[in-house]
Amino acid sequence: MYDNEFGEIKLTRRIGMRSITARWRNDVLCINTSHLVPIGEIILFIGKNREKLRILRQNALRKASPEIHYRLGQRIPCLKGDILITAIKYRPNFTGYKCDKDGNLFIFISDKDDINTDIKQKAVSGALKELMKRTAPHVLIPYAWEVAQETGVQPKEFVIGRGIRKLGHCTSKKVIQLSYMLMFMPEELVRYVICHELAHLTIMNHSPQFHSLCNILCNGKEKALEKKLKGFTFPILK
Ligand SMILES: [Zn+2]
Repeated sequence: MYDNEFGEIKLTRRIGMRSITARWRNDVLCINTSHLVPIGEIILFIGKNREKLRILRQNALRKASPEIHYRLGQRIPCLKGDILITAIKYRPNFTGYKCDKDGNLFIFISDKDDINTDIKQKAVSGALKELMKRTAPHVLIPYAWEVAQETGVQPKEFVIGRGIRKLGHCTSKKVIQLSYMLMFMPEELVRYVICHELAHLTIMNHSPQFHSLCNILCNGKEKALEKKLKGFTFPILK
């Protein structure tokens, strides 16, 4: 069976089945019904339930989207570098992190542990956050000053915030707080968040004037960057 919108449909006939059921599997619409139901009726069923089938499809795709899963040898990008997840000879249940003297970043797990367990996955996620909290003052703050210098807008101070949802904040005392979580983002998005806060030094609200100033600081890319920011997934477990 074929549908103009949904493409190839997998039809399975089951003896004794009274109703028509539909579900999505690997983005293929699967219809189950008995031998007695004529094709015309199935086409009618699809037509009547088109909107429902669309929603079902969206939900199925969302569920199928790749989830965060850490593995050994994986490199997780972060601002100005990446983080390598690796095993070391150590006692079981160990998870640690390190920034070596050259600035290379590591997450270590014991070679006696299985990284695929839920507990270990959570431990790696936690270690990643700790590592970024430690690294942010040395990487994010200097970078923020670079951006400030480039744009010619200077705050009194940049400080690291611990918020997960709130990526940036500008106080009335002209202090800009930047979340350590920015460390996980690509440079252009980090720069965008910094520019947004720098624009707040002049205009505290989110008026059209604010956005036009922010857009100037972002080289005319404010809207595109905001869209990218909304679509960004942090490489940590919720
Ligand atoms: Zn704002």
